Amino acid sequence: MTTENLSFQAEVGKILQLVTHSLYKDKQIFLRELISNASDACDKLRYAALTEKTLLEADTELNVTISMNKDTQQITIQDNGIGMSKKELTDNLGTIARSGTANFLDKIATQEADSSKLIGQFGVGFYSVFMVASKVDVYSTKAGSKTSWLWSSTGSEKFSLTPTKLAPARGTKIIIDLKNESKEYTDISKLKPIIKKYSDHLNLPIYFESSNDEKEQVNSGMALWARQKKDITQEQYKEFYQNISGQFDEPWQVIHFQAEGQLSYIGLIFIPASPAYDLFMPEIKNKLKLHVRRVYITDDIEELIPNYFRFLHGIIDSEDLPLNVSRETLQFNPMISRINKRIVNQLFKELAKIAEKEPEKYILFWNNFGSVIKEGIYTDPDQREKIVKLSRFTSLKKESISLEEYTLKMPKKQKYIYYLSGQNIAELKNSPHLESLKEKKIDVLLLTDPVDEVWIPIVNNFNEFEFKSVTHGDLELPSKNKAEKSDEKNDIDALIVWLKEKLSTEIKDVRISKRLADSPACIISDDGDLDINIANMLRERGQLNEDFKRVLEINPNHQLILKMQKSIKNKKSKNIDDLAFLLLDQAKLIEGEKVSDLGNFSKRIVQLMQDYIE
Ligand code: ADP
Ligand code: MG
Repeated sequence: MTTENLSFQAEVGKILQLVTHSLYKDKQIFLRELISNASDACDKLRYAALTEKTLLEADTELNVTISMNKDTQQITIQDNGIGMSKKELTDNLGTIARSGTANFLDKIATQEADSSKLIGQFGVGFYSVFMVASKVDVYSTKAGSKTSWLWSSTGSEKFSLTPTKLAPARGTKIIIDLKNESKEYTDISKLKPIIKKYSDHLNLPIYFESSNDEKEQVNSGMALWARQKKDITQEQYKEFYQNISGQFDEPWQVIHFQAEGQLSYIGLIFIPASPAYDLFMPEIKNKLKLHVRRVYITDDIEELIPNYFRFLHGIIDSEDLPLNVSRETLQFNPMISRINKRIVNQLFKELAKIAEKEPEKYILFWNNFGSVIKEGIYTDPDQREKIVKLSRFTSLKKESISLEEYTLKMPKKQKYIYYLSGQNIAELKNSPHLESLKEKKIDVLLLTDPVDEVWIPIVNNFNEFEFKSVTHGDLELPSKNKAEKSDEKNDIDALIVWLKEKLSTEIKDVRISKRLADSPACIISDDGDLDINIANMLRERGQLNEDFKRVLEINPNHQLILKMQKSIKNKKSKNIDDLAFLLLDQAKLIEGEKVSDLGNFSKRIVQLMQDYIE
């Protein structure tokens, strides 16, 4: 049998290009990635051996051994884990199965940031070895198999596969030929602290083997989460977090707890300080890793935690679940759903505590993950109330406000929680819909998160105050009605009748506005009609083709409206028909709606400009 030469999948080729030709600040992360792969391989074997004991055979102490050779400029990393077959070598080290790779490449190409920070996140950890390697040889024997393969590559477009007798009896041995500029990694004093840092939390011994065959354990070899809280430093938590998450930030919060009693388990959960790239990708799943009595089982049990907590990293280690059960049956184990409930409660308790005691810190969390958590309002009715309470909003008066605070601060006569939704806060603040609310000093929630449109109609009220969109129907503002003089009333009625007739093809109705102070007119959606903002959103996504007829509201105190009334009464102005259309069109534009007849709109504006100069 001879060597086969194969090409990397195109995406891998691109990643290798980036990895080998860009400058990284943090080259040493290749060690973290390879040690973590070796540790994963041992976890996988431990799990497989639960049902197939012979896989462990005589070699029962799962471990990783690292050695180096100054003369040949080589580092060797060896594990006695699950190993890889020929096909697995080809698939795992020649392609990227993960979706989102294209996204990753775009991000790196467009981003100034240190790209090595993204490598772990995108699951391309192995390839980071080419930051320091001129050649990599991977000798591997799959557990239970008698044949071994050598995968070899210099990190250009190709890799080779050759049958070999030099592989370990089980597991994987990776020999790295260091580039000249990376030969510092053969320096023991430099290598050891890095290895310790990257492996101290791992649940297996990491050995360092010196040239005279002496083995020395570098890490403590005890799963971090199983240790006493008081024996763990912040640095160790951070290291563990970065290792399992692939993120490079400090965790925003570490939640480490032990549940005892009917259900015993340990939880070590990290809330990241920044969102990961895949937060809103449809295929993203929860990231908690399930262990049973220290043995890694799976990170693929959706039932372990609700999807709206998909940004969390961490592990759950159960004392009660049976070890020798398959992932598939575990999924339906009632203990899983009980653990789920208890973790969720614990998390909400923790979040509520931080929201109350450290509001500024809480806002950082909310800005990152608020829109994800809010999905729970409609997907998890049991937790709805808690999530609504934890939600924070920007309002006219405050950058961050809870519904509790909003309702406590509102005037006694106010009946509703008013909100206005749209694309950005600055635009919303200038909306004509807010004018009389501003005058009356009534606060309004300014919503820019599309998810709010989904849950508000479901929740409907908070502490018995209903939500009300300020672009929708009658605002029912608390007000003293001043009596209107009857001839003024007649004049405005005449204007309304006239506008209705002129604009009959474009609008549903014309009404006197109670929400305007400075603008002459605005459009609103009638009660029962689709909200203007939702309609715009759906239209942008191509999910809505029909146009809705809106209601035109006019401001009876505005000079323009008063002048138009006069003009109608005296039948004087020659261009007044044009004004009807312009009044409507400018109101539409400010709402982000399209003008229905752009050609005529532009003609009218030009005419107006000419009149202005005369
Ligand atoms: P990830 O670890 O995120 O899956 P990597 O690029 O680090 O991505 O590794 C790719 C895959 O290669 C792993 O998922 C694993 O299947 C395989 N692999 C890498 N190193 C080893 C090893 N030492 N033993 C067994 N399999 C390995
Ligand atoms: Mg990896």
